[in-house]
Amino acid sequence: MDLSVIIPIYNEEANIPALYERLCGVLDPMALPGSYEFIFINDGSRDKSLILIQNLAARDERVRYVDFSRNFGHQIAVTAGLDRTTGEAVVIIDADLQDPPELIPALYQKLTEGYEVVYARRRSRQGESAAKKLTARLFYRLLASITNISIPVDTGDFRVVSRKVVEALRQMPEQNKFIRGQISWIGYRQTYLEYDRAERAGGATGYTYRKMLRLALDGITAFSDVPLKMATVSGFVVSGLAFVVMLYTLYARLFSHDYQPGWASLMVSILFLGGVQLISVGIIGEYISRLSANVRQRPLYIVSEEA
Ligand code: UDP
Ligand code: MG
Repeated sequence: MDLSVIIPIYNEEANIPALYERLCGVLDPMALPGSYEFIFINDGSRDKSLILIQNLAARDERVRYVDFSRNFGHQIAVTAGLDRTTGEAVVIIDADLQDPPELIPALYQKLTEGYEVVYARRRSRQGESAAKKLTARLFYRLLASITNISIPVDTGDFRVVSRKVVEALRQMPEQNKFIRGQISWIGYRQTYLEYDRAERAGGATGYTYRKMLRLALDGITAFSDVPLKMATVSGFVVSGLAFVVMLYTLYARLFSHDYQPGWASLMVSILFLGGVQLISVGIIGEYISRLSANVRQRPLYIVSEEA
């Protein structure tokens, strides 16, 4: 098998037929010496996606699928795909045609030039809200600034990777997946191509703000300890300030007798200290919740059916 294409699916009934046509239209002329396969992962869709995929699989032996028992999330769906690929090269692509299948030959060409990862970087994004573009932009830059590994900015999971990379990914059993970060962590020779990200072809985004926030926190906690260190540093800074103010308070009370019934300062310091403490505890909590998820060692996903 030369090429495996992983396609996570969450309520994509409007896009599956067109996606399949366009993928075949691109992959057939590539004249790969071997063959290729599609692996659809139905991530608990509530529409007719599963039926569409099953029909494709019945018609076309290159189509395989996995049906999850419920919605486990995009990153887990991709992971299930990675667990099942057999190709020497593996493409990860969104189902909504925001990642143009027409870019695959160019990505694959780069891979054959001796790279292990060729990712597709968004030059522009169409049809997405200003808020989504802004939060994504800020997130990638924040992450890049607080982590030691170089995670490319403005890059999703659309990419082609070699078998070596897939094998490395499969050795990383972490529960809270941030696959684009894991691939950067793995290393090897990586390169990128730029593209203009189209509008979603049909249907609606499956990434709610809640899911995006979770992905962002998964990425940050998995690839940076800076937030924890910031909690420590802010603790020291605030304690230092508090100590100075304490000395002044004692001095005013005992020697200068120049003190007021200090309601304002009292409120301010209590509120400020309370805020810093809660934020710090919250940051620690984010790490601990992920620690405990990994300690529980549940399977990453439950399969209801596969073919
Ligand atoms: N997706 C998924 N599970 C989810 C949400 C999304 O498998 O819980 C899939 C979705 O079908 C698509 C890809 O992940 O193939 C990207 O999702 P989407 O297009 O909704 O995200 P956006 O492009 O808006 O960030
Ligand atoms: Mg999309």
